[in-house]
Amino acid sequence: MKIFETSITWFVILLLIVSSACQDTSTQKGPPQGVPGELVDPHSSAEKGGAVVTHLELDISLDFTQKIISGSATLTIDNPQSKPYLYLDTKDLTVTGVVLLSTSQKSTTATYDWLPEDSILGRPLVISLASDTRAVSIQYKTSPTAEALQWLEPGLTAGKLHPFLLTQSQAINARTWIPIQDSPGIRFTYAAKVKVPPALMALMSAENPTEKSPEGTYTFKMKQPIPAYLLALAVGDLAFKEVGPRTGVYADPSVLNAAVYEFGEMEEMMTIAEGLYGPYAWERYDVVVLPPSFPFGGMENPRLTFATPTVIAGDRSLVSLIAHELAHSWSGNFVTNATWDDFWVNEGFTVYFENRIMEALKGREYSEMLALISYQDLVEEVKDLDKKDTHLKLGLHGRHPDDGMTSIAYDKGYYFLRLIEETVGREVFDAFLKAYFTENAFKVMDTERFLERLDRELLKDRPALKAKLDIDLWVYGPGIPANCPKAETPLYSRVEAEFAAWQGGKAPASLSTEGWNSHQWLYFLRSLGDETTPEQMAALDEAFHFTQSGNSEIQCEWYTHAVRHGYEAAYPALESFLTSVGRRKFLMPLYKEMAKTDEGKKMAISIYKQARSTYHPISYMSIDKVLGWEE
Ligand SMILES: [Zn+2]
Repeated sequence: MKIFETSITWFVILLLIVSSACQDTSTQKGPPQGVPGELVDPHSSAEKGGAVVTHLELDISLDFTQKIISGSATLTIDNPQSKPYLYLDTKDLTVTGVVLLSTSQKSTTATYDWLPEDSILGRPLVISLASDTRAVSIQYKTSPTAEALQWLEPGLTAGKLHPFLLTQSQAINARTWIPIQDSPGIRFTYAAKVKVPPALMALMSAENPTEKSPEGTYTFKMKQPIPAYLLALAVGDLAFKEVGPRTGVYADPSVLNAAVYEFGEMEEMMTIAEGLYGPYAWERYDVVVLPPSFPFGGMENPRLTFATPTVIAGDRSLVSLIAHELAHSWSGNFVTNATWDDFWVNEGFTVYFENRIMEALKGREYSEMLALISYQDLVEEVKDLDKKDTHLKLGLHGRHPDDGMTSIAYDKGYYFLRLIEETVGREVFDAFLKAYFTENAFKVMDTERFLERLDRELLKDRPALKAKLDIDLWVYGPGIPANCPKAETPLYSRVEAEFAAWQGGKAPASLSTEGWNSHQWLYFLRSLGDETTPEQMAALDEAFHFTQSGNSEIQCEWYTHAVRHGYEAAYPALESFLTSVGRRKFLMPLYKEMAKTDEGKKMAISIYKQARSTYHPISYMSIDKVLGWEE
């Protein structure tokens, strides 16, 4: 069902006119267009049952001076119902020509138009199709402010000699660098030719080079179908080193060795993951370490995880992030949330899987620490969120999907799955999950279909178990249900005992903290109450040197307390942290904490003035809201 003003006759005449202009790539505006019929998902203009993209051929070059990507995207389509239009998502793209390619290899200038602009979703491009259209080829360029792209000056990279470009397509940013159907429910294969300045290496979520091309021309192939949010490109002064037969690390040459050490357990993690839920589907698993302004901890771009350098702590203490991104090779990349309302289907499963990998790698005491930290994050997040945003099944229609990227999908999702595991038994649940991944490979999954499967496979005719789970409350209800499992670990009991001793008057230096890992320290710091004084902060700092910590998780936690308890000696270190790191997970609590008081807000704004231009749009768009910042 579509609302178009043009009649079919007019459309046919127009097609006859434009098809006479073979090989012509000039722009041609079509008749005014209406809106598509029922949508695949509320954040894409792709029509249900409409023409869909099955393959992308990208031919682009990068201009670091102008901060622009330009070139062509050729999209092979499948149009079983012979629909007259192809709807593509775009945001801030300039299109200079569209050509139709027919099944008999003819090319014809296409008629195209735009749907009205939406501030969140961008401006859908509508291309009129002919009955024999096999593919469409779009000439385009990006805007310097494209939300997916971050162009970094050399000074913001580890080596400080060359610029860097990185992309972040999730959730709906792919459309700001490629005209595409930007819905997690639409998968396609891709190939790409990318031209970059000669001193730089280009990498994608695809088969990657291991050496620089002298001319700066790279070709890529991705033969497994992926949704648009997993399209990724990183370009910079990068070098490669193997970790294991199927795994390796790309990083700035100056951090490569440190990264290879830090991620040395990757191959083992892969073996564990495959032992749990079946073969790895993407052949290689590599990690690229990005400059510190990358807004996330990691992004599960297939075959090539993008990772923040803030996990390189020197002692492998933060590598559960790699377990997380690797787990996405099954949950997310392999079985994908149908829409962003089902985001927990990606993230909840991934946190559960991550935890299982870490348990097998480091033991239950260790993985329970991670589970408890995850519970604390959940409790904090629930306090801040609107009740309806604490349901596992989200309602993001009319909103930005990033609004749903909270601890709910991750940690409430994790605890829901853990509850199922504890209720039906681990062996049964593992067999269920293995079959779930195998049978839904390269497909989408929504909340309801998962629940149906759960019911059919594990809960049918078992009303007592069903009642115990209280599924509706978890999925469609707010907050943390009372039957939420409890994580426990003696590693934290030790911390609690020492914390109590300190509160009872024992000097920090005489606490038994030998051999504590960074999660234990984090747990200790999270126990600091509102009544903590600047003097107590100073005494703790003198004994444990938190201000000078090289561990980003501890730094973030400590600086948050420094602001909360007025410990000014840490402010210079806080400032240098905020001006050198762009990971949103660390920036948000620190800016939020400062924004609580007038004086703090002044400090926040003065730091933000210097730092904002070094942050990725994903980070600064969130902080703008916290500080009420207007450009
Ligand atoms: Zn994730």
